[in-house]
Amino acid sequence: MKTGIPPLIVGNWKMNPQSVSLSAKLGAEFKKRLSAISGVDVVVAPPSIYLESVHRARNSSKSYALGAQNAHFAQLGAHTGEVSLPMLKDFDVSYIIIGHSERRALGETDVLVNEKLLAVIKAGCTGIVCVGELKRDHGGHYLSHIEAQVRKALVKVSRTKLSQVVVAYEPLWAIGTGKNATPADIYEMKLFIEKVISDIYGRNYAQKVRVIYGGSVSGKNAQELFVDGMVDGFLVGGASLHPEEFIQIVKSVRER
Ligand code: PEP
Repeated sequence: MKTGIPPLIVGNWKMNPQSVSLSAKLGAEFKKRLSAISGVDVVVAPPSIYLESVHRARNSSKSYALGAQNAHFAQLGAHTGEVSLPMLKDFDVSYIIIGHSERRALGETDVLVNEKLLAVIKAGCTGIVCVGELKRDHGGHYLSHIEAQVRKALVKVSRTKLSQVVVAYEPLWAIGTGKNATPADIYEMKLFIEKVISDIYGRNYAQKVRVIYGGSVSGKNAQELFVDGMVDGFLVGGASLHPEEFIQIVKSVRER
């Protein structure tokens, strides 16, 4: 955990739940349960079309922040199907997930990830940049893959803006598979990512970037992954749709 920076738990609802009323119900449930918990930054990222209902359900409680699963880098214009940062900010969105592997699979490139991160920072929001390898190889090529993803995402990002950057290490083989990375794998990658950022900006500035883990995090494994993996929090997919389990994950990062 970084000195003076609370751990971060991000719930990525992906393309769930099935209706606006269910999204409002979930939003209200989280508001109720999270209002009693402090010392952890919690973000809920519903599909954009549900932001209004979750925003309303959360009301002024601010017991969690709102996140978006994607944003366009332009302010407005001819970008069919896209959502801009000013639109998201109207619903009090302050965190944007960028370059999730499910979006990279649809063609989102490192260049686009970088353009989005620069726009997110300029808008005063925090970008959660997802990086991760498809598989692990004995030659350690996955390390150069992660290094390239991190370096390309950070092009032209000034060191004074690093507190608006979170890196989510999400190995593709662990996402939605029920096979989480081991605490040792996570610790290795956390140190590696911090080293890459330190090499660019220096150690003191690199300490401003929270490095979180995502990939089959559950109520059962969160505590161990947090304590032994030494990460600054989690990006949670499937389990973020289950209030009981999500709260268990949030509680698991209060102490190490
Ligand atoms: C994700 O979608 O970023 C993710 C980590 O999913 P899951 O927790 O379901 O593996």
